[in-house]
Amino acid sequence: MLKKEKELEKLHQEIKNCKKCPLWKLRKNAVPGEGPVTSKIMIIGQAPGVDEDRTGRPFVGRAGKFLNKLLKIAEIKREKVFITSPLKCLPQPPINRKPKKEEIKACFPWLKKQIEIINPKIFILLGEVAFSIFFPKEKLSNFRGKLIKKGNRKFFITYHPAAGLRFSKFKEVLERDFFNLKHFLEDG
Ligand code: URA
Ligand code: SF4
Repeated sequence: MLKKEKELEKLHQEIKNCKKCPLWKLRKNAVPGEGPVTSKIMIIGQAPGVDEDRTGRPFVGRAGKFLNKLLKIAEIKREKVFITSPLKCLPQPPINRKPKKEEIKACFPWLKKQIEIINPKIFILLGEVAFSIFFPKEKLSNFRGKLIKKGNRKFFITYHPAAGLRFSKFKEVLERDFFNLKHFLEDG
């Protein structure tokens, strides 16, 4: 337990010093993610935004506030889950652009190591970038709102909260998905 905590801390130090893709040059802070090493649930977003780059913490901006609301709907305590992104640095220039394939590829080993250390039972995949890492040949629309078993792991797939802030129809879908997630978690 303590050993794993140290391992995760060391990994996060390495991420903060990472120069494996050009995004390190303009970042203020890398954002490894946060949450207990014992987390059963891992939430995976897309990439840090401006607020995350400034603070070094995941989901602290507008999308983060909405994620907090969604977690409340699902009766998940934020401090009990591990929250991260496939990309640990803010995509730029231009600021907050879509991540590039090469960047996601360069950064993925960090997420892989986090998964190995934390070994979560359930992944909540927020949006296309997170989804396509685990299901490269599939379409998100076929899986959205569902809990999928793959090996000894489960994946819950939905939109990214930022999409909910842009379009009210996505906001409603997200709220419904997290309400259903609450029941999935109760059913085990
Ligand atoms: N969006 C993400 O995917 N991750 C963050 O940390 C913030 C916004
Ligand atoms: Fe390293 Fe990932 Fe940041 Fe690129 S985005 S510099 S691979 S931590």
